Amino acid sequence: PENERVYGLKGVLEHSFERTRHDASGALADYIPELAKADPDRFGIAMASVSGEVVGVGDVDLPFTIQSISKALAYCLALEALGRDKVLAHVGVEPSGDAFNAIVFDALSNRPFNPMVNAGAITVSGLLSEAFGAEAFEVVLDRFSAAAGRRLVMDETVFRSEAQTGHRNRGIAHLLKCAGALGADVDDAVDLYFRQCSILVTATDLAVMGATLANIGENPLTGSAAFAVEAVRNTLSVMFTCGMYDFAGNWAFDVGVPAKSGVGGGILGVVNRQLGIGTYSPRLDAKGNSVRGISAFRDLAEEMGLHVFDPT
Ligand code: GLU
Repeated sequence: PENERVYGLKGVLEHSFERTRHDASGALADYIPELAKADPDRFGIAMASVSGEVVGVGDVDLPFTIQSISKALAYCLALEALGRDKVLAHVGVEPSGDAFNAIVFDALSNRPFNPMVNAGAITVSGLLSEAFGAEAFEVVLDRFSAAAGRRLVMDETVFRSEAQTGHRNRGIAHLLKCAGALGADVDDAVDLYFRQCSILVTATDLAVMGATLANIGENPLTGSAAFAVEAVRNTLSVMFTCGMYDFAGNWAFDVGVPAKSGVGGGILGVVNRQLGIGTYSPRLDAKGNSVRGISAFRDLAEEMGLHVFDPT
């Protein structure tokens, strides 16, 4: 907070960027060729406040695919469209501690553990595809766009590649169907899931989307309502406990803000009622989280006192 007064938001970002940019560890996601083509050195940090201020440092306007960050936003949309009880009947809210693509369900309820692992996210996409039919992807894209405050588009090449190689996700969807968790047609559910993962965003978009969540669903730049208040509360809760793959516990301990990462290299963080933070750096650690993204969030959390349980 002290540094914020001295340097302003932009100055704080610049300092964090300088402190974290030199780490070249980690590796690009390579499960599809398109992701391995990213320039590994790109790095951007953006921040948007609920009062509408947007600042950024580095490659904050470079598009990349949203990937798993879409899971949080799709969940928010499902909660709003179908109601909490219906969604909870299909997907739990318990951290699994397993990898994102684990083929494991909650044995007691036969549901996927939570909507941030692939099994849960595919179930959520299934719920959306049942609710909105052929329009489902348009509805998703509209809402993501409303949250970002600009018209987003999907990367066709990444989508095709995901669809062609997504055998594990199809396998998970079939098992979900078999377990009774997935009501929708298997192909419809995974098609929507692959499409939503292939939406292109920038670090600035992630920051504004984060600010929209921090602002309980209303985009602070455009004033348009992207998500319902109750749905935002429930989504942030799940992001806090399950958003960072099987690193979520460490993240909550160190950084202490709800967040979601994706293998495209993005991280979206939310400082409730205050800020959205978006980072982009495509080198990932072994758990699938952006290495410099984690460092930048850690640094900012410390500098700005962002942890929800910080005493000041
Ligand atoms: N499309 C990816 C998958 O489901 C997303 C992975 C991720 O970002 O965690 O395999």
